[in-house]
Amino acid sequence: MSTSIKPDKLRIVHYPDPVLRRVCTTVERFDDSLRQVLERMFTLMRTGKGVGLAAPQVGLDLRLFVCNHTGEPGDNLACINPEILDLDGAVEMEEGCLSLPNVSVAVRRGQKARIRAYDIEGRQFEREATDLLARIWQHESDHLDGRLILDYMSEASRIANRRAIKQLEDDYAASSKKRLRV
Ligand code: ZN
Repeated sequence: MSTSIKPDKLRIVHYPDPVLRRVCTTVERFDDSLRQVLERMFTLMRTGKGVGLAAPQVGLDLRLFVCNHTGEPGDNLACINPEILDLDGAVEMEEGCLSLPNVSVAVRRGQKARIRAYDIEGRQFEREATDLLARIWQHESDHLDGRLILDYMSEASRIANRRAIKQLEDDYAASSKKRLRV
C-alpha cells in the first residue's frame, strides 16, 4: 500500500465521487498501514451508524471492506480481497449506503452467501452467513467493482430518490469548485 495514505485523514466520500465507480485493485501488502486503514474504517462505520464500509467509500481503490451486523465489537469483520462463492435464495430489502445519504433502494439479493477472503494477518478464511450479514457482504462486494445501490433502482425508486440524488450531485459540484479555487 502507498505510504502516502494517512489513515486519520480518511473520510467517507459521497456519490458522485468517481472513486465510487472504480474497479478496485487487489491488496498485496498486509502491513501496519493496512491495519491502520481498517481501524479507521471501523471507526468511520461505527460513527456513521453503518453496518458496512468498503475502501472506495473512504477514497481508496482497494479490494477490502469492514462490516459489523450487530454493533457488538466482537462482530467486527474485515474482509480483504473477498470473493462471494455461493449465493442461495433471494430476498428484496430496502438498503441505504453511507456514500448515499437519504437514498434508499429496494435491492434483491441472495439470502444466503459464502465468502472467501483474507484477514488482516493475510490468512485466508471462508464463512457463511444468512440474511443481514449475507446482504452486507453482497452490498460491500458491489462497491469493490464500482457498483452502487443506484444501479438497482426501479423507475419508481428513481423518482422517489430524485431529490436526494440531485442534492448529492449539487453538493459534490460545489465542493469540487471550492477545491479548484485553492
Ligand atoms: Zn454502500
